[in-house]
Amino acid sequence: MQVEVTQLQDMFGAIAEAMRREKERLCELDGVIGDADHGIAMELGFSAAAATVAALDPATTDPTTVFNTAAKSFLSAVGASSGPLYATALMRAGASVKGKPVLSDDDMVDAIEAMGQGIQDRGKAEPGDKTMIDAWLPATRAARSARLQGKPLGQCLSAALVAATSGAEATKDMVAAKGRSSRLGDRVIGHMDPGAASAVVLIEAIQRTFET
Ligand code: ADP
Ligand code: MG
Repeated sequence: MQVEVTQLQDMFGAIAEAMRREKERLCELDGVIGDADHGIAMELGFSAAAATVAALDPATTDPTTVFNTAAKSFLSAVGASSGPLYATALMRAGASVKGKPVLSDDDMVDAIEAMGQGIQDRGKAEPGDKTMIDAWLPATRAARSARLQGKPLGQCLSAALVAATSGAEATKDMVAAKGRSSRLGDRVIGHMDPGAASAVVLIEAIQRTFET
């Protein structure tokens, strides 16, 4: 597949729409173990990102500029801790495809992997800390491994979605070591981490955009 700027614009539109749809559920999850704003943060951030990205002229914009524009909008729209985490993720995605006018399947998997790595570098969470990393890392690993087996982008993204979903599910059994919910100790057991849940929403929106 050759991913063009217009498809990346569609992708951000799809992510924003998915966050709008899931806003209440994400706020409810955050209400149990945090401060109930995660759905608002993700919806605000990706709506802002999608709007500025949609305003770019595809004829004069490259994929790196799309990701960097999204990163800046996300960061200015979101005051919660997810702001700098996703802004870093999007900047890293932009850097990973620098100089490319269109993106191949390999480039897309590189960009997604760069997002997960950016979140980890920025937030310093480890697997098992009950954060979005517990969805992102299995997802990027699954996408990479599918790509190494020669699978096309759509199948790499489906594999990523399956892995993110079970990664998010697994956060229910974890005690939080990072972020707001780390103050609650054992009380968070049994509840899914909101950031892991929104990572699934995001990856599903990307998967739907590129399924053939
Ligand atoms: P805040 O906690 O500031 O209200 P949000 O509600 O938007 O921010 O986001 C909360 C989510 O952010 C958590 O569910 C968790 O997944 C994620 N998170 C918090 N700290 C970190 C971190 N250091 N690394 C990765 N993810 C983190
Ligand atoms: Mg919160």
